[in-house]
Amino acid sequence: MITAREATLDRLVVQGSIGSVVIDKRKYKLVAYFSDQMHSSGQKAAKVIGCKTTTVPAGNDFRLTKQALEQAVAKNREQDLIPFFVCGTFGTTNTTAIDDLPGIADVAQKESLWYHVDATYAGSALTCPEFRPLAAGSERADSFNFNPHKWVLTNFDCLALWVADSTHLVNALSIHREYYPKAEGDTAFLPLGRRFRSLKLWFAMRMYGAEGIRKHIRDDVMQAKWLANQLVADGRFELIVPVVFGLVVFRIKPKALSDPSKVSHANTALIKAINDNGRVLLIGTKLNGNEVLRAAVGSTFGTQKNAHLLFVILKEQAAKAIIAPE
Ligand SMILES: *Cc1c(COP(=O)(O)O)cnc(C)c1O
Repeated sequence: MITAREATLDRLVVQGSIGSVVIDKRKYKLVAYFSDQMHSSGQKAAKVIGCKTTTVPAGNDFRLTKQALEQAVAKNREQDLIPFFVCGTFGTTNTTAIDDLPGIADVAQKESLWYHVDATYAGSALTCPEFRPLAAGSERADSFNFNPHKWVLTNFDCLALWVADSTHLVNALSIHREYYPKAEGDTAFLPLGRRFRSLKLWFAMRMYGAEGIRKHIRDDVMQAKWLANQLVADGRFELIVPVVFGLVVFRIKPKALSDPSKVSHANTALIKAINDNGRVLLIGTKLNGNEVLRAAVGSTFGTQKNAHLLFVILKEQAAKAIIAPE
């Protein structure tokens, strides 16, 4: 976001829209755009760099749409603010929704916004060719990240960031000092006491190979789909969104309860019962005000046995939650 900010302000100076002396003041007019399904790290980054944010409501299927973004940008322009950054998500944290990436690219291009694609979780699936069409539009991003620690068998933490044009990043973050090595651009990437994260990823790649990584992803997606099918077949659960990657978002359905208005209570009780039980960890979320459960398949040594165990525990605890939803 710092790079986006500097690139925007540099451009405005070059265009003569603002003079360099007023840059500092204009900084407070910069606005970044996120959907309401965007991970909290976006808001946190905005706090760190001190810019405004506009949260754009996602559509019914939890995707950020082109139209909603356009409207938000137009409104802020009327308020004399400076839109400078938009983040599209490939696989949101709540539901693995995929924003309208080509539509966001159109708006970013038209409005001169820096376009970042957050593919932190689902980006790993792009190692498999069959998932790549889902990310259409992300090739138009200015920057793209995914976290190998989420799903590429790499220990926490490791984030891979790609930028389309590294000159902005180098310009934004380079500070030259005599005691630094001379190579151009190095200072932008030089925290001196740096951890060597790429080595972990290199080992994972050498150990599993491209095919091993793809197999891991595909096995996990199969297990997630298996679990989803079992839940639906059981009759007491409903899926909130279709399973695309390794995340199953579901809940006890209102019809399974004698009092359907108690559905959020029952699902809160179910999450608590499962986690108190201690054999699996399940983290829920709220979608449109409703409590839902999220089962993520993706650990390094997870197998079909784990998915099976989860289903057994879910059935056993759901029975209790349905009888006593309070
Ligand atoms: C997990 C996640 C993040 C944050 O990743 P960290 O592992 O905490 O660095 C950001 N965005 C999305 C979409 C995520 O799923």
